[in-house]
Amino acid sequence: MKRNVLIIGAGGVAQVAAHKCAQNNILLGDIHIASRTLEKCQAIIDSIHEKDAMQRPGRLQAHALDAMDVQATKFLIRATNSKIVINVGSPFLNMSVMTACIETGAAYLDTAIHEDQDKVCEAPPWYANHEWKRRQACKEAGVTAVLGVGFDPGVVNAYARFALDTYFDSVESIDIIDVNAGSHGRYFATNFDPEINFREFTSTVWSWEHNQWKANEMFEHRKDWDMPVTGKNTTYLTGHDELHSLSQNLGVPNIRFWMGFSEHYINTFTVLKNLGLLSEKPVRTAEGLEVVPLKVVKAVLPDPASLAPDYIGKTCIGDLVKGTKDGKSKEVLIYNTCDHEKAYEEVGSQAISYTAGVPVVAAAMLIANGIWDIGQMANVEELDPIPFIDLMNHMGLVTRIQDEHGDRVLQPKNESSYYLPPKMLVNY
Ligand code: NDP
Repeated sequence: MKRNVLIIGAGGVAQVAAHKCAQNNILLGDIHIASRTLEKCQAIIDSIHEKDAMQRPGRLQAHALDAMDVQATKFLIRATNSKIVINVGSPFLNMSVMTACIETGAAYLDTAIHEDQDKVCEAPPWYANHEWKRRQACKEAGVTAVLGVGFDPGVVNAYARFALDTYFDSVESIDIIDVNAGSHGRYFATNFDPEINFREFTSTVWSWEHNQWKANEMFEHRKDWDMPVTGKNTTYLTGHDELHSLSQNLGVPNIRFWMGFSEHYINTFTVLKNLGLLSEKPVRTAEGLEVVPLKVVKAVLPDPASLAPDYIGKTCIGDLVKGTKDGKSKEVLIYNTCDHEKAYEEVGSQAISYTAGVPVVAAAMLIANGIWDIGQMANVEELDPIPFIDLMNHMGLVTRIQDEHGDRVLQPKNESSYYLPPKMLVNY
């Protein structure tokens, strides 16, 4: 059994991950939080104590760390005897944290694909540019590395795997739909790191059509969906991490990602982009100062974590899967809805952070008890989705399904199903 967790990063997702680790520390053991800014780690620890969230008394410590520094990260992993590293810092850190894990034997988890500071939107499939190059190294070291295990990427990959295995003989298309029908009350803000958020949308939109990559422009294709709970929502075809593994691993000819955007977001984004303010390339001011416009925009926008107290409304994210079963057409929607206010009440973060932080801790728990401790690198769709979906149903992220039999909670149990003794779980 692997125990003791090091969380890297101290943003909104780390806040959720730390609370969820604390709520499950009988299984996970000691919890360490490390980020550039020690005070942010300490504030998370204070909020866990304020909410009396620890399942039992245990070690909960803050550390200052520059996770780009592989040696310092290795030192901290060893000093804290951490066997699982949850990387929920910036995606620029992935490869250095993964290297530290390979060299210390700790399991590695993240929630977003690696980003290179100087490159926006690399050639597809994106995972092949960085993470998959370390597959052999993980295997040789026997290191479990689960990539992109937030909600999207993450849970939506598990939904795709589960749908294929359970409901279909053949699948024609998977549409991943991500809608945030919440409101934070600010003039303009992004729900996670603005730099990463904008980098996602400033370049080619890659989607998987007829078994090949298709390039589109951002906001070129619009589609309205009638989603459970959030109702009618407008979305746009968007490039996203999970397409770059699902397309290679599932053998499904069409896989697309649709994200909801308000008119206001699109207008503001378009102005910023057309002015050159979303560029990652440095410019020099008249005073001789070199600045990266995108980093300046990030600096003036609200910190995403600060939106949580005022956020109201819900998110709805799911997979609409179409194919055939027993010679007949079939379609299912597997989805989750999450309430911003409830998330804040429980862990002090908004629902976007909540839906990313819960899955990565569920994955850590499955590694801790051996079920997902596979000693190699995997994307989520390569792992058994049943224990994962089942466990999250008990951790605050309930999966639902809509098909010809109606709308209900998805309880994906079979003989191999994962079972956690009740004392291991907090009652929700
Ligand atoms: P934030 O920007 O709020 O937090 C990032 C944290 O990383 C900050 O605490 C920052 O520290 C820290 N950090 C940055 N650089 C370093 C460094 N060199 N060394 C140590 N720490 C560093 O991000 P979020 O919490 O919103 O998101 C975290 C991750 O989750 C991101 O990768 C994001 O893309 C991903 N995500 C995934 C989702 C999913 O569903 N899959 C959904 C939402 C987010 P400091 O504050 O000191 O600068």
